Amino acid sequence: MKSMFKILLVLVILSIAIITGIALVEYYGRLEIPELKSKNLEYGKVTDRTESTENYEIRTKTFTSDNEFVNTSIKEFVDLKIEELKNNNSTEKSIRDKDKAVLLQTIDSYLVNDNLVSVKITSMTKKIFSEEYVTDVDTFNYDVAHNREIRLEDIFKKEYKSKIEEQYSEKYNLRKNDIVFYNNIKESVCTYNTLKEYTNSKILTASNLNISDDEYNSLTSNLIDKNKKMIAITFDDGPHKTNTQEILNILSKYNAKATFFMLGQNVNNYPNVVKAVSDYGHEIGIHTWSHPELTKLSGDQIANEINNTAQAIKNITGIEPWLVRPPYGSLNATVKSSVPNPFILWNIDSLDWKSRDKEKIVPLVLNDVQDGDIILLHDIHATTVPAVEEIVKYLYENDYQIITVSQMLEAKGYDTTKTRVFYSGRQ
Ligand code: ZN
Repeated sequence: MKSMFKILLVLVILSIAIITGIALVEYYGRLEIPELKSKNLEYGKVTDRTESTENYEIRTKTFTSDNEFVNTSIKEFVDLKIEELKNNNSTEKSIRDKDKAVLLQTIDSYLVNDNLVSVKITSMTKKIFSEEYVTDVDTFNYDVAHNREIRLEDIFKKEYKSKIEEQYSEKYNLRKNDIVFYNNIKESVCTYNTLKEYTNSKILTASNLNISDDEYNSLTSNLIDKNKKMIAITFDDGPHKTNTQEILNILSKYNAKATFFMLGQNVNNYPNVVKAVSDYGHEIGIHTWSHPELTKLSGDQIANEINNTAQAIKNITGIEPWLVRPPYGSLNATVKSSVPNPFILWNIDSLDWKSRDKEKIVPLVLNDVQDGDIILLHDIHATTVPAVEEIVKYLYENDYQIITVSQMLEAKGYDTTKTRVFYSGRQ
């Protein structure tokens, strides 16, 4: 009887030990996933997007908002991160759960104003067989009104960087009244107000900058120094679906404003591009509806070509364009007497339509460039885009204020309210 009890006792102890052993192995092999929650979601929605295999565990998000451009851009980034995780952890096979590779992501979003949205994606990753998580922040800033990613150069003059050298990083979120810069996961905050003297567009509002409407108007209305050299770059025949946007990016980079003489027939094809040109502070002029030689038309036909184009532009931007660039520069007495607008010609011809070659365009424009010049380029040619980058960079580095035709003529003291032909703003 006694030995029977002993055997039983040994059996019980043995089974407890086995069960504990299994539990311990189970416990120490289990994958513990840290919690990662979105803290701020002022724009769009997020839903869970998970994927689990024996090698990896993915817990990320799908972002949805009214704006397809934003949704797609974020999806592309998330897909890329997932792909990266899979590729980096596909050669070995994990045995225990805890050895799996992990990708965790969360999305935060900020609404800056009606046009601007900012997104932050925090990613935590763990490699296969590793215990250590690495955290990364990635940021995206969108102009949802114009479907483009926006950079600080679109908002502030280049010099703003010197003011925030310590905080500056390529990763930042625009928020209502400030910018958060990220150095890895370390955050530093800078209010728009401290950078207001560098404002160069109306993309941020008075309320973002935390100033009165009066102060805002004086900051954003006339940003020209009459004692400094100035130049007007003009683009004819657009807008073009992609080239015009690329040129806008270049102009922003160098704090430059330009004048786009558009064709009515293209305006209606690309209203978003027209709106972007206007909202980014550039001037739009009239290049007629269908590019005829105006000297071969009747007075009524001339007026129609110009007025219909002006109306189409106004319908999109809310601003009535006033300057006219006649196709081929062709003018005669009938043209001049048919409309009250000023005619803007040019004194530097890039011949970009002819050469389609940056190496020829750039020297032609820059060889004899002077204060008050009006440069002629065409934003419909892809070969013009890299030439613009070099031209604008040179002018910027040589202290030219790159401004619109109206701004330049006004600063030089010319009256642009009446019919008159201008070739430049040289005095
Ligand atoms: Zn033209």
